[in-house]
Amino acid sequence: MKNHFETDAIRTQTERSQFLEHSTPLYLTSSYIFEDAEDMRASFADEKDRNIYSRYSNPNTTEFIYKICKMEGAESGYAFASGMSAVFSTFAALLNAGDHILSSKSIFGSTQTMFNNIFPKWNIATSFFNFNEIETIESLIKPNTKVIYAESPTNPAVDILDLELLGQIAKKHNLLLIIDNCFATPYLQQPIKFGADLVIHSATKLIDGQGRVLGGVTVGPTELIQKIYLFSRNTGPALSPFNAWVLSKSLETLPVRVDRHCENALKVAQFLETHSKVNLVKYPFLKSHPQYQLAKKQMKLGGNVVAFEINGGIDAGRSFLNAIKLVSLSANLGDTRTIVTHPASTTHAKLTEEDRLEAGITPGLVRVSVGLEHVEDIINDLSQALDA
Ligand SMILES: *Cc1c(COP(=O)(O)O)cnc(C)c1O
Repeated sequence: MKNHFETDAIRTQTERSQFLEHSTPLYLTSSYIFEDAEDMRASFADEKDRNIYSRYSNPNTTEFIYKICKMEGAESGYAFASGMSAVFSTFAALLNAGDHILSSKSIFGSTQTMFNNIFPKWNIATSFFNFNEIETIESLIKPNTKVIYAESPTNPAVDILDLELLGQIAKKHNLLLIIDNCFATPYLQQPIKFGADLVIHSATKLIDGQGRVLGGVTVGPTELIQKIYLFSRNTGPALSPFNAWVLSKSLETLPVRVDRHCENALKVAQFLETHSKVNLVKYPFLKSHPQYQLAKKQMKLGGNVVAFEINGGIDAGRSFLNAIKLVSLSANLGDTRTIVTHPASTTHAKLTEEDRLEAGITPGLVRVSVGLEHVEDIINDLSQALDA
């Protein structure tokens, strides 16, 4: 019988050692030993599925990958030192010089930099589409297009992209659909169900959930993961066993943590909607969200990020941040600690005003990554900072 998500999150575990430990120990070892010359030969010839060297595999990383595969409904995976090494290595393993990428405009900043400034070195170009014009993206497909790439919900404007529609377009044109599922986590959304080929996570965010370690992972069909594995085993972006151990422990509590994150986020969003200094609140599970129905279809709950627009633009946004007392000003998200950022004056300050507006970043937009403090304390802090 198939276990529920929560049970797999806890009971997916690497084989016990002779000590019969209950909880998976930390395997801090760079390498593994062989029985004899024949064992060693067969292992290197890939005739045996076993650990050789921790750049290739390690019991802690294997447990972490296997758990994510079960959660996402994927066959195989490979774990990386960070979310960005997962994104980079996935593309670098699968694309050739001259290939073309079709990407959503609203993607993580470093991914955008990779597409705009790094991939052109290898003659890999990217065209971008808006979250609300997916119907038109077929006109952007070229003979050398290989991949459609997107994130949903988007950062920082929490817009929703129609994953099923993207899946249909990718299938029709024989393209790979790659989804960065970081904001939703596998608990809230499984893109493979909607037609994605590969799913990427920055495990640094809600998967760790406590702001401690970096990590990343890519999961999908064995045929594609094998290419990513061979690329990575030779180029070395492997996740450390220690971080894998931390992240696999974190996954045991992912469902309970994310449930509470979402409950708190919805309450924060509802509070903000009633505040006179706020003129727009965006949260996928608020009925006022333009893509509320789509969010309900794709996601179990609305996630932990709320975006809102303060009356008074950049100056109002900055004074709001200055008046915050409990909540952190930080670039991270998906932490137990609530975090606020003002994208127009920080993470997205280098963009032109026009590009910011295209990405849904108005001058007064504030992003809140709602944490696990008592929701009344979070709301009280936001409230006093809005009034200040
Ligand atoms: C943070 C983030 C990344 C990058 O992950 P790192 O672990 O910081 O390298 C990629 N995509 C999204 C959506 C992110 O939020």
